[in-house]
Amino acid sequence: MDFSLTPREQDLQDRTRTFIRDVVLPYEKDKRQSPHGPSDALRRELNALAQRAGLLAPQCDPHWGGLGLSHRERAIVFEEAGYSLLGPIALHCMAPDEGNMHMLEAVASEAHKQRWLKPLAAGDIRSCFAMTEQAPGAGSDPSAMTTTAVADGDHFVINGEKWLITGANGAGLMIIMARTMIDGQDRGATMFMCDLPAKGIVVDRTIDTIEESMTGGHCVVRFENLRVHRDDVLGEVGRGFRYAQVRLAPARLTHCMRWLGAARRAHDIAVDYANRRKAFGKTLIEHEGVGFQLADNLIDLHLSRLAIWHCAWVLDQGRDARTESSIAKVAVSEALFRIADRCVQVLGGMGVTGDTLVERIFREIRAFRIYDGPSEVHRWSLARGLAVKA
Ligand SMILES: Cc1cc2nc3c(=O)[nH]c(=O)nc-3n(C[C@H](O)[C@H](O)[C@H](O)COP(=O)(O)OP(=O)(O)OC[C@H]3O[C@@H](n4cnc5c(N)ncnc54)[C@H](O)[C@@H]3O)c2cc1C
Repeated sequence: MDFSLTPREQDLQDRTRTFIRDVVLPYEKDKRQSPHGPSDALRRELNALAQRAGLLAPQCDPHWGGLGLSHRERAIVFEEAGYSLLGPIALHCMAPDEGNMHMLEAVASEAHKQRWLKPLAAGDIRSCFAMTEQAPGAGSDPSAMTTTAVADGDHFVINGEKWLITGANGAGLMIIMARTMIDGQDRGATMFMCDLPAKGIVVDRTIDTIEESMTGGHCVVRFENLRVHRDDVLGEVGRGFRYAQVRLAPARLTHCMRWLGAARRAHDIAVDYANRRKAFGKTLIEHEGVGFQLADNLIDLHLSRLAIWHCAWVLDQGRDARTESSIAKVAVSEALFRIADRCVQVLGGMGVTGDTLVERIFREIRAFRIYDGPSEVHRWSLARGLAVKA
């Protein structure tokens, strides 16, 4: 086991850290941010700066303008990017675009890559991924999907409603998951590619949520007789859930990477405060009750990084890492939440105000325990693997 950074990894870490510190941090108070995420104008401005620094969409193959990072290299770069809540937006390695780009690189035809991956990797458009529905539809259990795509000549006609669709507002591409009906037969879930805006796709509303880091917010989307040509099926009909796995295992790990950087930021803010603020004749950090909380942060940061790096290594071996990514998602999302919670506590009243980033980071990381599989669903899936088959 070699945990040392290669010269390339060291260079990537240094360049990303410098870019975040010198270029992105000064934008953190930019007014072009709302509870529904940074605006597209701000995103584009930051993307242009990242491109100039040679750091735009680093996860993509160089053919698409990226750096072709391995999963381990992503772990290093995305953690640094996550140190600012604007960092992943700037580098264009934020959800859902990053997961979508990864899936398109792995699954899409050359024609689809030229049409959608090229502008997406360049940051000319954003994308969204539409799977989740309100009860009784697809949620933790995607097989409950109610949105249908019915074959009609050269087209599929899609009807249904999705919600919590990140970035739908203002995206240029939507990847839609729908139950496919051909000649009255259920052919399983299929992914469809669709330019936005489109006749037949209505963004009903942008939902108020606990967090606010993703451009375009989280939307309720309605499909009203949306016609999608057969040529715009991603990959093959009926393989939607399989492609979702191609997307989800790495995507949930990259969330871990980015939020690890954010938790490190919260920890740094808390350590700084604890070293300056005095109570009962000494600095807070000299009180064991505070010092131990910060020591527990160090332990959680370290173990999170190890879980991420191990899973990245498994992915770099070409394996699907379903088990490892579930373990990492649960362990890291819960560890990072403990860190954020401790940081709020160490900051006292300041911790719940908007005067530091800690309160924002606490909210962002809370949501992470739900998306890309709630902790309970990952535990349930891990436990199923332990059950003795009758
Ligand atoms: C900020 C945010 C962004 C999102 N972005 C997108 C997006 O871009 N595209 C998209 O398609 N979806 C998106 N989602 C939806 C997300 O993937 C779902 O919220 C998630 O899959 C859970 O589904 P659900 O909300 O329907 O919860 P439900 O299925 O209703 O489950 C509710 C709770 O039940 C419990 N539970 C469920 N199953 C089990 C089980 N087997 N064992 C034990 N407990 C269980 C869990 O605690 C779970 O939290 C987003 C969600 C959030 C919060």
